[in-house]
Amino acid sequence: MTTTPTQATIEIRNLKPYYGKRLAVRPVNMKIEPNKITAIIGPSGCGKSTVLRCLNRMHETILGARVEGQVMLNDENIYAPDVDPMLVRRKIGMVFQQPIALRTRSIFENIAIGLRLAGINDKRVLAEKVEASLRAAALWDEVKDKLNQAGTALSGGQQQRLSIARTIAVAPEVILFDEPCSALDPISTMKIEDLLLDLRKKYTIVIVTHNMQQAARISDNTAVFMVDTDDGVPTGVLVEYNPTSKVFTQPDDPRTEDYISGRVG
Ligand code: ADP
Repeated sequence: MTTTPTQATIEIRNLKPYYGKRLAVRPVNMKIEPNKITAIIGPSGCGKSTVLRCLNRMHETILGARVEGQVMLNDENIYAPDVDPMLVRRKIGMVFQQPIALRTRSIFENIAIGLRLAGINDKRVLAEKVEASLRAAALWDEVKDKLNQAGTALSGGQQQRLSIARTIAVAPEVILFDEPCSALDPISTMKIEDLLLDLRKKYTIVIVTHNMQQAARISDNTAVFMVDTDDGVPTGVLVEYNPTSKVFTQPDDPRTEDYISGRVG
């Protein structure tokens, strides 16, 4: 697998995610830098997952949910009318909180399935791509002798790396992570964090985490969201977006400081 960085930039312009009539998050404007890790933090319900799901058109898969505004992947608006959401989701992959190891499939097939859907059927090419993806997800050495065993036989941390391998297999430019370590023990968490730092060399990464230490450890930039109830309806709001070192030492917004010091959330 090539290690050429994808250099993908995402620019979020005036993004407004709705659930039915309710605006979930006030207009978001953010530029996500290429080959950096951008963390999204904030208390429960501030819209972290909602905003993340808007970045690869997953939000609209929820009944009644819709989006206004633009998300530019490099120079292309992923919400333009002629854009196929399936292709967007291949370019901007997503790894979820719970690892997804497909129950009825082997470790090999867990990865090959996405490749077949992308039109790759040649056995040799499939085998090469499965191996390259497992290597890139730091899982190859642990599974190379049991590729035909069920994916579900792996530990939680290994299943999460299998999910990452599946995402990498279809050659994304950006990978979104929604609380990827919240179901994992500290050692498995450390392995995923090391892997994220490695993947950053090639991919642009956005991670939602409720774990502030994790954001501080691995991210380059941090976006802080809060819940605003001023008008009586709880609505998410982006209060600060800065380099992570600044967010954690000299935040611009007093609400960031309150959150980081544990006074809210
Ligand atoms: P976070 O990830 O920060 O915990 P979410 O993005 O899950 O926050 O939620 C933001 C807001 O959107 C919350 O008020 C939540 O209740 C609402 N919300 C989330 N998912 C749905 C849904 N499927 N239907 C309706 N409202 C939702």
